Amino acid sequence: MKKVLVSACLMGQKVRYDGNALPQESQAFQRLTQLADIVTFCPEVAGGLPTPRPPAEINVADGDLVIAGKGKVISVDAIDVTQQFALGAQKTLDLCQQQNIEIAVLTESSPSCGSSLIYSGEFAGEKIPGHGVTTALLRQHGIKVFSQFTVEDALAELEL
Ligand code: SF4
Repeated sequence: MKKVLVSACLMGQKVRYDGNALPQESQAFQRLTQLADIVTFCPEVAGGLPTPRPPAEINVADGDLVIAGKGKVISVDAIDVTQQFALGAQKTLDLCQQQNIEIAVLTESSPSCGSSLIYSGEFAGEKIPGHGVTTALLRQHGIKVFSQFTVEDALAELEL
């Protein structure tokens, strides 16, 4: 059985910034948990951030730029949490490489886990195309990242 990394909050762990989880009940998600050996992880907790924590956004439109040192992750109370986000991303990559994980299903729109949309960086509730810091690092190393909205695509990849 192949291993698939899944955001801890999608698996029901209360690790989100607001102290809640984001459990999934779709048929596709249930099928994923049956067909794969699920490895749960939260990059932000692994990076040393507490739960709950102030929401944070990437101040440029892309996690890749944060990895490259050209952008930052800033909390709503103006604290620079770039270092914690980068550490969490690195720990996630280390885990994937140690466990030969090539597929991930991560939480859409998160500044760590987002895979097609992230918040604009202005705390205005606006989403823009882009991916989070952890997703960026995983993709740079060839790991395929999907979201809770594209689980069917993850299943297709799993069954290849
Ligand atoms: Fe969920 Fe990822 Fe945010 Fe952790 S960092 S709470 S796993 S979306």
